[in-house]
Amino acid sequence: MPLTSRSNASTLFGGPSWLLLAALLLAAALPAAGQEMTVEAYEPRSTLKVPGGPVTRAKFPFVDAHGHLRGGDPARIDQMVKEMDKMNMAVFVNLSGGSGERLKANLAATKGRYPNRFVVYANVDFSGIGEPGWGEAAAAQLEADFHAGAQGLKIYKNLSMFQTDVDGNRVAADDRRIDPVWAMAGELGIPVLIHVGEPSPFWDPWDKHNERWLELKMFPNRRRDDATRFAPFDQTMEEQHNLFRNHPNTTFINAHLGWFGNDLGRLGKLLDELPNVYTELGAVLAELGRQPITGAAFMEKYQDRVLMGKDSWDPIWGYHVYFRVLETRDEYFDYYRKRHAHWKMYGLGLSDEVLEKVYFRNALKIIPGLDRSLFPE
Ligand SMILES: [Zn+2]
Repeated sequence: MPLTSRSNASTLFGGPSWLLLAALLLAAALPAAGQEMTVEAYEPRSTLKVPGGPVTRAKFPFVDAHGHLRGGDPARIDQMVKEMDKMNMAVFVNLSGGSGERLKANLAATKGRYPNRFVVYANVDFSGIGEPGWGEAAAAQLEADFHAGAQGLKIYKNLSMFQTDVDGNRVAADDRRIDPVWAMAGELGIPVLIHVGEPSPFWDPWDKHNERWLELKMFPNRRRDDATRFAPFDQTMEEQHNLFRNHPNTTFINAHLGWFGNDLGRLGKLLDELPNVYTELGAVLAELGRQPITGAAFMEKYQDRVLMGKDSWDPIWGYHVYFRVLETRDEYFDYYRKRHAHWKMYGLGLSDEVLEKVYFRNALKIIPGLDRSLFPE
């Protein structure tokens, strides 16, 4: 019979001696101490036995439409292409191309050696916004970068959060002074991959209910709950959507499922309203992987609008989790980044038709200059 408390012990033994009491207290204290554990330390091993297993190679050649590469050491690029081959990645899109001379160096390091395996996007330098003629100059630079070899434009989240104009005011995504840049991208026929905002829990109180509690502990500077410093989440999103509305002739790839991966109904409405908007899966696979029924229905309905993207080259096995979520119907398996998801993944079991579109057909449609011979007809 377990002895669970002092009063139990008293009843059982008709009054404890001090020695017995001390022993009981110690016994009661030990298991309690053993139960103290941090969120980071808890790593339960699943006992579930179900069919399925890792997928190390994509079923079709794919374009990673959301990648970042800094530096282009030739040996590293050679190794990278070998690893791309292993997992059936046909093309890696490096969004961090920069502009001007830096862009040219980034192009030479990757496309210069493997012309059809890499795509490089240009970036806009927002410093100086507010000076007369800034928009026209930025658009002219984008045109020059396109002629140097850039195949798209990437906008970072500094726009709408940290970027200020020459007067010190926050620059919103729909700021009309940037219009010449968006118009130029439309004219050149290159997509704009744009990341505005963050996961909505970053705006919520950092407490035990916050889904990104761990990430905010690891990276406290990602908190956005200080309303004196950051515009609200919904406003930030609305500004971005206004930008899409203002430029119907420009193609936008709204990165990270537009931060609506946890509200696919809302994302669907946006895609319904704006045919010039696409989205991609960079760093938000865990959102689909926790809602296999709703997620698969979303991917089916919007199969012409979603691109494969991961948002980081390492770790390689992170890609394997992408393949497994998209291709299989496996149940309750691990994600690759604890701070993004403390939950398990489930496979969506997408059809070949949907997989082909997400893996490469949608990319072929909107990214100019891809080598079609790398993909099935
Ligand atoms: Zn990114």
